[in-house]
Amino acid sequence: MAWGTRRHARSRTPLGTADELLEGSGDLAVALQEELVRRNAVAPALGGPGESAKADFLRQWIEAEGLGPVARVSGSDGGMERPNLLVRRAGTASDRCLWFLCHLDVAPAGDPEAWRGDPFRLRREGDKLVGRGVEDNHQGIISVLLALRALVQTGIPLPRDVGLALVADEETGGPWGLDLVLRQRPVPFGPGDAFLLPDAGDEEGGVIGVAEKGVLGVRLRVLGHGASAAVPITGRNALAAGAHLLVALEALAHRFPDRDPLFLPSHCTFEPTRHLESPGDLHTVPGEDVFHLDVRVLPTVRLDDVLTAIREIATEVGRTHRVAIQVDPLVREDPAPPTPSSHPLVRLLARAVRQVYGVEARPRGIGGGTLATRVRRGGWPAVVWARQDGTAHQPNEYCWLPNILGDARVLLRLMIEEERPEGTEPGGAAQGGT
Ligand SMILES: [Zn+2]
Repeated sequence: MAWGTRRHARSRTPLGTADELLEGSGDLAVALQEELVRRNAVAPALGGPGESAKADFLRQWIEAEGLGPVARVSGSDGGMERPNLLVRRAGTASDRCLWFLCHLDVAPAGDPEAWRGDPFRLRREGDKLVGRGVEDNHQGIISVLLALRALVQTGIPLPRDVGLALVADEETGGPWGLDLVLRQRPVPFGPGDAFLLPDAGDEEGGVIGVAEKGVLGVRLRVLGHGASAAVPITGRNALAAGAHLLVALEALAHRFPDRDPLFLPSHCTFEPTRHLESPGDLHTVPGEDVFHLDVRVLPTVRLDDVLTAIREIATEVGRTHRVAIQVDPLVREDPAPPTPSSHPLVRLLARAVRQVYGVEARPRGIGGGTLATRVRRGGWPAVVWARQDGTAHQPNEYCWLPNILGDARVLLRLMIEEERPEGTEPGGAAQGGT
């Protein structure tokens, strides 16, 4: 099954018409990718121009297509605009809204030599679309836009409100995106709202993210004393001490042995990542050594406890090797309580994925890194889903055109169907595309 799309003899129901419309939207999806890719939206903190040009284009397109008025919530980041866009379409019950949350900014292109072309110019290889941001998060943005457009053109009624939130500043976890929107008064999100983030998934569309691990990025800086390697006794070798520290940190896995089969991997991880180049040359005892540790913990583990354990290990290694060790958490995202796997939105999404792709999607915990954690911390249910290969942040990032269109059909079903309590779905496991 090449793309997993089930073929049906469609009756001319409104949903059948919308499906046909979406399946015929390939050229439009490519054109939108072209427009989004060429508007470089890397955050100023990462050396980019920010999201304004992209937000201008999207606002104009959304309003020209009649998808609704666009509210723009902007912050000034050292004089640079950091825009957030909100669109809300009214449904029968306007006391609750299903929000589709995407981000406007993209990761930096990285090494230009690693790309087979200009990262900010869309390249098309058959159904494969290549360029910075095509997967993260353009695929999600375009799927939602196409689904909303199909809704407007077919006039299918909405059981509850549907919203699109396009936020800035996701990649650095900074204050100008979702956090800025949440600081608005009144907050644009109500107590009955729920969120879907089309920002991560697997190749099949089989993973419904309901939980995320907590994340720490820690810098470990070992300070010894430089010397000539001919007389190492006169120095204190920071590199050698750092190597002992790196091995000693493996004890963290034993100190935090929690397991949860919802996650893959099911345990906490403590992974050494970036190692900086030592000062001096190959005949110098280095007086400084710096490396980083990526920590991912299950929601049952407190990051404060992990930091305390890291500091204890560092103190012990520092004493043994007569060096000072600084422990600096550079990135920190505390875990949030998971969205229950039994939440009606999870079941609704699983049914839509089954109808469109013929895949049994299951609730899972993912490694962290989306805005769902902040949404959940605010008390709202949030699920993360998309059908994609996971090329975000890499050189030659790509996405598949059929996934944009298929995902749009899945999201359309979420928009027009109502979450029902367990056991009340019509006809049990509903099959078929209409
Ligand atoms: Zn993303």
